[in-house]
Amino acid sequence: MGKLGHGEDILEELTRICVSENITLGRVEAIGAVRKARVGFYDQDSREYNYMDFPYPMEILRLAGNVSVKEGVPMVHAHLVLSDSEGRAFGGHLAAGSEVFACEYLIEAFEGQELVRGYDEATGLTLWTE
Ligand code: ZN
Repeated sequence: MGKLGHGEDILEELTRICVSENITLGRVEAIGAVRKARVGFYDQDSREYNYMDFPYPMEILRLAGNVSVKEGVPMVHAHLVLSDSEGRAFGGHLAAGSEVFACEYLIEAFEGQELVRGYDEATGLTLWTE
């Protein structure tokens, strides 16, 4: 458990911690606030992520994700629920570009067989291959 630094990129920092701690299998959660956020929505027809920017402060109501392996290195996959100043909730797939105002995270490392990501024909996503 710990806090992410003010002004840091959430996804990059969580990934950096997993790499430096050699965490390749686990789960991630966090709460806090962002100065701005960027989240994705996967368009199942075009098979591309559409990104939404929220260029203003929001609360992180819930960040939930996992850690597995992609191309030989730890990869954090997380989804984010945010709220604005009137309590309205928005969210999506956590993308680079979400900047910490204050953030308390928890990473729980698991023992066991690594889950490895590879291209999935049915969805166009990079999913676990087993
Ligand atoms: Zn996702």
